[in-house]
Amino acid sequence: MAGLSSSYNDYNYSRLLGHTCSHRQTLFEQEASYRSFPLPGDKPHYAPDRQYIVSHIALEILLDFPNKSLTGVARTTLQPVNDGLTEVVFDATEMEIKAVYLQDEGAENQIPLTFRLEDEKLNLTLNEPKKATQVMTVIIHYQATPRHGLYFIAPDEAYPDKVVHVWSQGQDTDNHYWFPCYDAPNQKATSEMIVTVPAEFFALSNGALLEVLEGEGTKTFHWRHNTPHSSYLITLAVGPFVEIMNQWQEIPIPYYVLPGREEEAKLSLGKTPKMVEFFSEKIGIRYPYAQYATVCVSDFIFGGMENTTATTLTEHTLHNERAHQDFSSDTLVAHELAHQWFGDLLTCRDWSNGWLNEGFATYFEAIWIEHDLGHDEFLYEIYSNAQSYLSEDSGHYRRPLVAYTFNLPIDLFDRHLYEKGSLVLHMLRYLLGEEGWWKAINYYVTKHRGQNVITADLERAIEEATGRNLQPFFEQWVYKAGYPQFKLDYQWDESNKTAKFKVSQTQKIDNETPLFKIPVELAFVSPSGVRDTYKVQLEEKEHTFYFRLAERPAFVSFDPSNWLLKTVDWIRPKEQLLAQLEKDSEAFGRIMAVQALGKLNGSDIVTALEKTLKEDQFWVVRSEAARSLGAIKSAQAEQVLLDALGYEKHAKVRRAIASVLGEFRDEKAAAALEKILTGDVTDLVEMAAASALGKTRQPRAYDTLIQALERSSFNEVLRSGVFHGFTELRDERVLPTILEWTNYGKPDQARYSATLALGHLGKFVKDKEKEQIIDRLLDLLEDKSWRTRMSAISALQTLGDEKAIRRLHRTVETAIDGREVRRSREAILAIRESKGRDDEVKKLQDDLEKLSTENRELRDRVESLEQRLK
Ligand SMILES: [Zn+2]
Repeated sequence: MAGLSSSYNDYNYSRLLGHTCSHRQTLFEQEASYRSFPLPGDKPHYAPDRQYIVSHIALEILLDFPNKSLTGVARTTLQPVNDGLTEVVFDATEMEIKAVYLQDEGAENQIPLTFRLEDEKLNLTLNEPKKATQVMTVIIHYQATPRHGLYFIAPDEAYPDKVVHVWSQGQDTDNHYWFPCYDAPNQKATSEMIVTVPAEFFALSNGALLEVLEGEGTKTFHWRHNTPHSSYLITLAVGPFVEIMNQWQEIPIPYYVLPGREEEAKLSLGKTPKMVEFFSEKIGIRYPYAQYATVCVSDFIFGGMENTTATTLTEHTLHNERAHQDFSSDTLVAHELAHQWFGDLLTCRDWSNGWLNEGFATYFEAIWIEHDLGHDEFLYEIYSNAQSYLSEDSGHYRRPLVAYTFNLPIDLFDRHLYEKGSLVLHMLRYLLGEEGWWKAINYYVTKHRGQNVITADLERAIEEATGRNLQPFFEQWVYKAGYPQFKLDYQWDESNKTAKFKVSQTQKIDNETPLFKIPVELAFVSPSGVRDTYKVQLEEKEHTFYFRLAERPAFVSFDPSNWLLKTVDWIRPKEQLLAQLEKDSEAFGRIMAVQALGKLNGSDIVTALEKTLKEDQFWVVRSEAARSLGAIKSAQAEQVLLDALGYEKHAKVRRAIASVLGEFRDEKAAAALEKILTGDVTDLVEMAAASALGKTRQPRAYDTLIQALERSSFNEVLRSGVFHGFTELRDERVLPTILEWTNYGKPDQARYSATLALGHLGKFVKDKEKEQIIDRLLDLLEDKSWRTRMSAISALQTLGDEKAIRRLHRTVETAIDGREVRRSREAILAIRESKGRDDEVKKLQDDLEKLSTENRELRDRVESLEQRLK
């Protein structure tokens, strides 16, 4: 699954929507959140016991579009694990069970069963105790109007252009809202879908399409998937989809989109067949299913979902040539495709081991980038993953990669599960070497294909394939938390031609965070460019290493290929950084040098960064140079950035330049940003300019931003930039406009940006306006759009007003989406905490006031006594 929100799952809505500056931060930073991963009241969760083994699930579904409901027959073939099974329990929520029958294998008759539906469980009493060898099929006739799991999209008065269609979303445990099933990942069965829909619609499900039967104004699609998979991967998507057929070898690779988006689909999803080939070769297990379909749907609540053979993606990933300059669907497509092996063929036994799904899918995005775009882009992707994880660790919470205490499984789908998971795999690749790594991966997939896995299975597979016992590695990186925080010191002794390198781990070591034992590389690069690389083993809190070299190095690199997840505190002299910027053949090294230079000052640095901006071949180095110039903030730096707008063509670099111009808060920067807003290479560049223009706080910004609101753009990024710009502008006049843009009927993506903006705006408006904002946000907690509700929760947390607590509690109790529940719980805790702090400050102020009053009285008395003494 690829998520919608960022900091976040969401794996990266931010990236998906291109709301990114350098490190995939959203325009609006995720709100500071609660510090501990388990929240008060959270309990341990483990995979359920299996009383029976499911071997086949066959669904017969009739969809009722006007009523957004369905009638179904679910046939589940199963077999007891032990002799004497008397009851079968399924998950089933908010459905009406009409009748239940049992058919023993080989029997002609169906026997009616008594059943009881309570607490989201359907209990079926068997007619007699069953033996472990007895195969039977349970047949459930039911009706449902699902609020979850299966989603009916339809136009309404506010959005008359919406196209009628339906899609499902099973992960993590939502399919039991539309068919009764064993809804946990630790069972795998083959599946079948027989679905009847209006004749003008197409229905997509798992596996191969066996037949289409024409009825009176209807069509019945019969799909069958012959490889056992977990029930959360069963999918259904129905609508007036247009098919674009592709192929890899004999495997069909169709894309399904709503009418009018065909060209965008070809552009956005076009690399899928090449990815199927590449992953098949690298993993060494050919794509294992009958076909690989992708369907793009409206209002999807994640970025993508890897339903076996039939991935669902948000339609927001579809884009045209203009957007293609700085936006790509490739990582999303690669992520869901990689899941077909890691997630679908091998499936985590429980969500606590979910990194075996998500960490792999996230790392395989990077592996695709490495293949498609090269080594530099790959390392930048790894670096970006690390930044994303580190921001969750420092700003939110720290947890072991495998954690069992939580409220709802969706809580686990965070930056640990995805990004840290990917970085752990990256480090494994370092330890095993290229050959060992791919050998181990091939062995792991071969050994466990068709099975459920836990982390120990991966550990053992690596051991069997390569002989390496990596238990200590898994112990520190998976079962414990955190990462090494290095402090480095380097000195050169000219008389002995010796480099002295001191490495310390400064993280607080406790039950959760270990002292890390890991090898690391050091590179010494001579003035003529000769590179000496050494690998050293880190075991202790502090090490000092000595290296005899032929001559004084021009610069030194620690972990030059960025294999390790870490932070580094290292003050390097300017000369070294400038030398690295000029001479390092590794783009990653130049990025590090550019970033460090941004923390120093001086016109020679600005000159060097200007040269980088003009000449470096890699766009990321140029973007980082722009950011460093923004950090230096001198008049010279500003001029370099303004000049660069004249020659820089790369959309992502232009975006970086536009973003940092907001730092300068002067007329020149505002004029340049205004010019970008009249039309630039992509909408994302314009978005960055809108946001930065607000930041300049120049008088002209207000009118320009109001005007920019008139234009729609790719995924509403421009309006999102404007709303962000408004919050930076701090001009109270914007309030009515932002309020209006939160109205139902405005484009959804603009609405939730406006909603988030309200939270930030509320921090500096007068009390009366603040009340107005809070009232609106409280209303939005009940909004029809999931994403807007999520934004309202975040905005209420930003405002920190106690009034929100009662309503947020209601969301916790009634929200059906787990992400709303988690975010509301965090918001409540954060508001209480900030209220506690406010109260403390208030009390201290009162005490101070009292003391100074007493002091004044005392002084008066002393004075009057002195008077009397005179
Ligand atoms: Zn995923």
